Amino acid sequence: MDFSNEDAVTRRIEVLKQRAQAMRDHDFYFYNQPVQEVLGGSKVIVNGREMGMYASYSYLGLVGHPRINEAAKRAIDQFGTGTHGVRTLAGSLTIHRELEETIAEFKHADDAITYTSGYATNLTVISTLMGRGDYVLSDKLNHASIVDGCLMSGAEFRRFKHNDMDDLEKRLQQVPEGAARLVVADAVFSMDGDVIDLPKMVGLCRKYGAYLMMDEAHSVGVLGKTGRGIEEHYDLWGSVDIKMGTLSKTIPSAGGYVAGRKELIDFLRHGSRAYIFSAALPPGQAAAANEAFKVILDEPWRIEKLRHNAELFINGLKGLGFDTMLTSTAIVPVLCGTDERAFALTQACQRQDVFVLPVVSPAVPEGLSRLRATVLASHEDDEIKRAMGIIGKAGKEIGIIP
Ligand SMILES: *Cc1c(COP(=O)(O)O)cnc(C)c1O
Repeated sequence: MDFSNEDAVTRRIEVLKQRAQAMRDHDFYFYNQPVQEVLGGSKVIVNGREMGMYASYSYLGLVGHPRINEAAKRAIDQFGTGTHGVRTLAGSLTIHRELEETIAEFKHADDAITYTSGYATNLTVISTLMGRGDYVLSDKLNHASIVDGCLMSGAEFRRFKHNDMDDLEKRLQQVPEGAARLVVADAVFSMDGDVIDLPKMVGLCRKYGAYLMMDEAHSVGVLGKTGRGIEEHYDLWGSVDIKMGTLSKTIPSAGGYVAGRKELIDFLRHGSRAYIFSAALPPGQAAAANEAFKVILDEPWRIEKLRHNAELFINGLKGLGFDTMLTSTAIVPVLCGTDERAFALTQACQRQDVFVLPVVSPAVPEGLSRLRATVLASHEDDEIKRAMGIIGKAGKEIGIIP
């Protein structure tokens, strides 16, 4: 390919190349940093240095849990590492059914279906259920995989203001009579850490006859007394029609799922293209996920500890003068403002062995660049206090806090 042409693709590639180079020149390039080793639940080795892990989605600290590792190894010994191809043509392994039954029980649903990633799950589920002439109403801060699923479906795609139920109602009123409608949102928002107003949303869905889909990537293991997520959190069991989640965050594996009524899951099993035309989860990953749900129920102290740690971290950062937005969960945005400041704060933290990462525009709106820090159940109080001390001192030097 000749990159000397001045066409649009060449220009795009050149713009990215220059932006990345400028960041490297400032030692601000934090993309895909190599993690060489994972030590226990809360430390990693990056660039040869041991750092406290504040950028993980493994909220309950289950990566490396002995029971989960053991389950994966046993499954590999029993089934090998692959799945022969797609389940419908090559045979469905018993471990896949076991996992789906475990998920259904955990989510208080009739049944569940699994896919190879959370991203693929949103893409295929939304585009299977919705089509031309239907309406999807999506929170403005929803995850990219939801947005892509909506666009792929060909349905009318309407975005309502973030967690704003008045705006959602306005948009529901604009849907033509008789058109199918789906309301979809993250249960806990992946960049801001705030929780969806489920009670009001459920009320609106019932009033306007809309299906309700929740993406629980950041709420399973985090919300609810036993970690079962958003419905347990609000004591609104049975209010969500399409309970979607990922197996790659709190659940230390890979894959995605939807739990719901039997008819819905049967329909997806016969109609969703990522299920029919793509191979199933590898047995080791399926077994690891299956065991992880059981560990969550057997070790409820992790959920309590996570809640304690989130409170300690959020209140501590607020006390130092940081703006942590509306978070009440383990995702803690540390608002910096400009990209430059977010990079500078990241750099200062990493130089003192606190592994955090920045999120800058266009992933978040311009002027709202931040550290997207997380706390885990596996952090100890003194570790969190040390990290906050470093973030606070650097924040002062950079001029983010007074
Ligand atoms: C991470 C994430 C996904 C995608 O899940 P993967 O398993 O990583 O593909 C979907 N939705 C939300 C809200 C997420 O944060």
